[in-house]
Amino acid sequence: MKVKILTHTPEPEKTVAAAARLCYSNSGPLEIMENMSREKIEKFLNKLISMGHLSPIEHVSFTFGIEGVSRTLLAQLTRHRIASYSVQSLRYNNPFKEDIINQKAEEEKLQKQNLAYIKGLALSPEFNDPAKINERFGIIIEKNIITEKHYEELFKENLSHFIRGISDAFVQTGENFLIFPEEFKEYFMQAGLKFEMENEKLLFRKDNAIEFCLFIYEGMDFSYNLFSKEKLFQIISSIKGFYEKLLFILEEYIKRKYYSTLPEDIKKDIKAIFIYLDGLKGAKEAYLKLVNSGVDKEDARYILPMGTMTNIVMTMNARSLYNFFALRCCNRAQSEIRELANLMLKEVKKIAPTLFEKAGAPCESLGYCPEGDLSCGRFPGMNP
Ligand SMILES: Cc1cc2nc3c(=O)[nH]c(=O)nc-3n(C[C@H](O)[C@H](O)[C@H](O)COP(=O)(O)OP(=O)(O)OC[C@H]3O[C@@H](n4cnc5c(N)ncnc54)[C@H](O)[C@@H]3O)c2cc1C
Repeated sequence: MKVKILTHTPEPEKTVAAAARLCYSNSGPLEIMENMSREKIEKFLNKLISMGHLSPIEHVSFTFGIEGVSRTLLAQLTRHRIASYSVQSLRYNNPFKEDIINQKAEEEKLQKQNLAYIKGLALSPEFNDPAKINERFGIIIEKNIITEKHYEELFKENLSHFIRGISDAFVQTGENFLIFPEEFKEYFMQAGLKFEMENEKLLFRKDNAIEFCLFIYEGMDFSYNLFSKEKLFQIISSIKGFYEKLLFILEEYIKRKYYSTLPEDIKKDIKAIFIYLDGLKGAKEAYLKLVNSGVDKEDARYILPMGTMTNIVMTMNARSLYNFFALRCCNRAQSEIRELANLMLKEVKKIAPTLFEKAGAPCESLGYCPEGDLSCGRFPGMNP
């Protein structure tokens, strides 16, 4: 997600301090504003916040641009009534418009990529029988599959898919290393991959192994390209540091392909991610079928998941922000809205550090947790 303050009340801390000063002064607001020194501002703000005299902080507001958050977050965020919202609508926008335009070209590209994968896989004696490949993938393939023409095509665009096929058929995994038979040396060199030779084998160790994995999985369509999930799971458990990098790739893929977010807890387990991907794929295919059959976007959207992304412009005054940060920076808040609240707090602190010094999860300023039995345990309870 991305969060930025688009605009805010000018001189927010001075405005709040002047409003507070007015309550206890015989002077008018214009004179007070003119004579407000930095020292006085800090003194008034600290006093107000510690007294809980919070109405003066309602005079300043902040407008946030929020991008790439889920509709689940939107439902939680808009429960905060003391705010103004504008939200990107799925009534007027089809998030998959480009897919409809590029459908044919995309299908052709995928076909070529999958053919390249099978060419790699079929180098294994196990797949020497074209009937077996036909049976497994429904593709009829000539016996001597790598002709001069195919060779050219592979090295132009689809080498990573071809090598993923080789990997799925031949890779042996160990703790932080991958091993291949020597016969693939030339292909790996063509791909610019770095390896060592050991006992007439090609050995990818640590960073080289990560680089190899990124090469074969980075340009992949995880829902439509062929690959062995079992091999991927095996590689993840063998090569330290690869999963974090793969997550980044998957997150970007899910954004681009499904206009969706990847929730925190699903991220922790590659098998959960694939279950999530299956759901996203089914929902997107159904949505596109409905739109293509003439159903209006405003009704077709009912099939889209809660993880579907949206963009929001939101304005809140500082008092409402205090309430929002107290509820949503707390560890009890759900992870996505907590991430949003923490990013927003960081942004407002850049502009009004004294005003928001005490904002955030209540435990931070109280030194104890007011959540009772539901406490996350970071701070002791009210009666330790
Ligand atoms: C951890 C967590 C779990 C939650 N779980 C659920 C759940 O299971 N189900 C669910 O429905 N919601 C749930 N919520 C949402 C929650 O109940 C609030 O709707 C949401 O946090 C907005 O808070 P708010 O009302 O304080 O904010 P705002 O609506 O911005 O209101 C700000 C403040 O203004 C005052 N105020 C606003 N409107 C009124 C009013 N009509 N009457 C009197 N005072 C008012 C209150 O003092 C309020 O705190 C959850 C929230 C959190 C943080």
